[in-house]
Amino acid sequence: MARYIFITGGVVSSLGKGLTSAALGALLQARGFSVRLRKLDPYLNVDPGTMSPFEHGEVFVTDDGAETDLDLGHYERFTGVAARNTDSVSSGRIYTTVLEKERRGDYLGKTIQVIPHVTNEIKDFIAIGDDEVDFMLCEIGGTVGDIEALPFFEAIRQFSQERPRGQCIFMHLTLLPYLAASGELKTKPTQHSVKELRSIGIAPDVLVCRSEHPIPDKERGKIALFCNVRQDSVIPAYDLKSIYEAPMAYHNVGLDQAVLDAFQISPAPKPDLSRWVDVEDRIHNAEGEVRVAVVGKYTQLEDAYKSIKEALVHGGMANRVRVTLEWVDSEQFDDKDAAPYLEGFHAILVPGGFGERGTEGKIKAAEFARTRKIPYLGICLGMQMAVIEAARNVAGIEAAGSEEFDHEAGAKRFEPVVYHLKEWVQGNYTVKRKLGDDKGGTMRLGAYNATLAEGSTVARVYGGTAIEERHRHRYEVDVKYREQLEACGLEFSGMSPDGRLPEIVEWKDHPWFIGVQFHPELKSKPFLPHPLFADFVRAAKEVERLV
Ligand code: GLN
Repeated sequence: MARYIFITGGVVSSLGKGLTSAALGALLQARGFSVRLRKLDPYLNVDPGTMSPFEHGEVFVTDDGAETDLDLGHYERFTGVAARNTDSVSSGRIYTTVLEKERRGDYLGKTIQVIPHVTNEIKDFIAIGDDEVDFMLCEIGGTVGDIEALPFFEAIRQFSQERPRGQCIFMHLTLLPYLAASGELKTKPTQHSVKELRSIGIAPDVLVCRSEHPIPDKERGKIALFCNVRQDSVIPAYDLKSIYEAPMAYHNVGLDQAVLDAFQISPAPKPDLSRWVDVEDRIHNAEGEVRVAVVGKYTQLEDAYKSIKEALVHGGMANRVRVTLEWVDSEQFDDKDAAPYLEGFHAILVPGGFGERGTEGKIKAAEFARTRKIPYLGICLGMQMAVIEAARNVAGIEAAGSEEFDHEAGAKRFEPVVYHLKEWVQGNYTVKRKLGDDKGGTMRLGAYNATLAEGSTVARVYGGTAIEERHRHRYEVDVKYREQLEACGLEFSGMSPDGRLPEIVEWKDHPWFIGVQFHPELKSKPFLPHPLFADFVRAAKEVERLV
């Protein structure tokens, strides 16, 4: 039976609960325990798949094809444990399940209520895979006091009561604001937040207090006294230069010790932190800088490309070089020369995206990288744009475009080099889609295999010819253009095992130009940088050396 750590937040949102949970997961692993991390989100969307990246940041896709909260990305990056469909849930999903059961008659005519029907559903969810790990870390999204979050708080309260004593603890994150005028850290919001939590029956065992200033012992003592938490379980959390410093920083202030104490695990196994010592060494001892332009649409909100940003940092760590990202909005040069916007970068990355807006600019970015021999990594839409660029400017298919952009019924502005995929093979069965299908959860999602061409750049980069990567897209490069494009030098170097779906393209006479239909960024970790990102940064470093 697993032990459960419930992580909640108060005072304000965006305190870094996800990161703290992930870092704690890593620290427990360092002490030899197995962990799984889970996110329970109070919003009513069934999953974040249909939310705009402006609303919710990136959608993190799991191997088993779930579209989840970006915190699951943190969990994977810090623990290396592949997240699953059952590690992310929202009120929307819980209510959908309850209502489906009600329609089926599963409740035998009972009146359906938040307690017990909704809370039972939440508790069942929390306990999935209970016998698989030593620790299950469950983070509740939002802040204590949110209306939507109440059933989740009630469910974790009940859950901890129903388990044997000592199996569950509560960790609460708060903020200590600093008043410059009086030069003081204020503890009152934390006190109120804990009071709110206790009013719904939850007493925190560990308090993590975010602060921009050192927390004096006196204040820690005060928080301990007023919040009814032991003083050594009031853990300070200061701002860090890099998120990857979090495991060591939290270890140094005793977070993992406080958690093990709360479970009365004594003596605590000694941690092996060598992985994180090495990660920090790579961050702090980098030589030189490569500048990468990320040419996208959601550039105002970095969270929209969270995993890409992190994967590039990992690529830098692999090469011991600092990677500076610059977010370039492709819409600026949709109808202009891209050169003034892209000159001076050591590499160009075009990430995934949806819809037509900004795509002409992305096509120009691919052309710029191809003709100037700048390393280019195109991800998902970024690959599709590179193929359209090749079709238009090299193969002479002037009207080449994507069916995605001919959204008006009957519009045929483009020759669909990239088309709407309606049927494909997943494992042992065939998936079928139609135009009018629901938007949610209907893309080609999750892990699929690809076969790489012997002797290709990607085969060298991966060090093999069989790979598995995560997908999230509706459109696909049409394989019928393969011969024509390969004759122009664009090699289709990765294909689905049945040979029908192009997975990777690369320019043969280019130092490093690769487009991939999948999302390699989702699998990169600081201690295991993804080979594509590691090699992309290496190629960018070559350019840096030349200029
Ligand atoms: N919009 C494109 C598609 O659906 C690309 C998706 C993506 O970049 N994730 O195929």
